[in-house]
Amino acid sequence: MKDSIKELVKKYDTPLYVYDFDLIEKRYNELKSSFEGMKSLISFAVKSNSNLSVIRHLGNMDAGADCVSIGEIKRALKAGIKPYRIIFSGVGKRDDEIKEALLSNIFMINLESIAEMKRVEMIAKELDIEARISIRVNPNVDPKTHPYISTGLQENKFGVSIDSAKWMYIYAKKSAHLNPIGIHFHIGSQLTQLSPIIEASNIVADLVRSLRALDIDIRFFDVGGGLGVVYNDESTISLKEYAEGIKEAIKGLDVTVVCEPGRYLVANAGIFITKVLYEKVNEGKRFVVVDGAMNDLIRPSLYTAYHEIEAIGIDGEESLADVVGPICESGDFLGKDVSLPALSHDDIIIIHTAGAYGFTMASNYNTRNRSAEVALSAGKDYLIRQRESFDDVIRLEESCDSSWQRR
Ligand SMILES: *Cc1c(COP(=O)(O)O)cnc(C)c1O
Repeated sequence: MKDSIKELVKKYDTPLYVYDFDLIEKRYNELKSSFEGMKSLISFAVKSNSNLSVIRHLGNMDAGADCVSIGEIKRALKAGIKPYRIIFSGVGKRDDEIKEALLSNIFMINLESIAEMKRVEMIAKELDIEARISIRVNPNVDPKTHPYISTGLQENKFGVSIDSAKWMYIYAKKSAHLNPIGIHFHIGSQLTQLSPIIEASNIVADLVRSLRALDIDIRFFDVGGGLGVVYNDESTISLKEYAEGIKEAIKGLDVTVVCEPGRYLVANAGIFITKVLYEKVNEGKRFVVVDGAMNDLIRPSLYTAYHEIEAIGIDGEESLADVVGPICESGDFLGKDVSLPALSHDDIIIIHTAGAYGFTMASNYNTRNRSAEVALSAGKDYLIRQRESFDDVIRLEESCDSSWQRR
């Protein structure tokens, strides 16, 4: 592995994202088989890693796609995901996005407000079609995760209350242009405790039962994503208990379980590789300055997320250092108080568990070109996204430049 990382660096340079496609496959199969005995659809949350090859890889295993913009829907379609396996979620959708999603005949649109439902109804009416919808219920349970990735509390912007949902289903049932087929919740990300998910499942399953009594037949029970992974020493949810708990909650209901994992499928499969530029010491505080930065991997800056950091093939006595990038922000760090040996120019550093919310959150801040992405499969490496060039980054400004000068 260590030699192969050096080879990858030689071949593709740094900063670099590398994804283990075999591990993604293993994770998918484990999750899918935990739902054995139930009808299930695993819909990959594209926002966690939107690379076309990653989506295609999961699509080849029959995964669907959970998308939060028309751009993600187009990526999913381009990567070969069948429209009937694509879900459109998200708290704010533009009219043109709704229209295009409906025309693409995707599986269903997840509604998050009454106002949104009325927009979708209006657009479906204009198109003279019936929109398949589900409603995102906010079950008001505390997912016990980081507040920025907690979504299932009343104070969060996501979903609607049980009472509003009921009202919406009754409205949708009567509408000629809405077909309520699903129900949805997603209480947060990086969940490490099972009980909030089961609590939410029970609350939402009870709602499905009361809707049955009103002759509203919900056939898709979407439990969202959120399964946590190990970054450091977290305990994680047992898939067996997860699936059992959901099975128990939906007992007696003839529904297909939809699950929308992002992080669980891809986080551990990804590493971010960066090279040491130099070390510096300020008043006794040690910094390792590397060529990767918060524009490449923002999770440490944004959520003070922990990522394991490893220097490849360097021995020697270790001491604590902050691993920082070149960006002009004090928040630009990849790790704080990391135990590392003495490092020198061009030593290679790996940031682990970077496959989810890594590249997809990357930006061009400080006019840095976004990194390349590489897939590993059965011992071979494949470039799945070229490194950006300066010309790529300025292209859309260059094309306007002349009219500005002629002004
Ligand atoms: C972000 C998101 C997911 C995926 O979350 P993970 O924690 O990556 O599994 C699933 N469903 C919805 C609606 C989301 O917003």
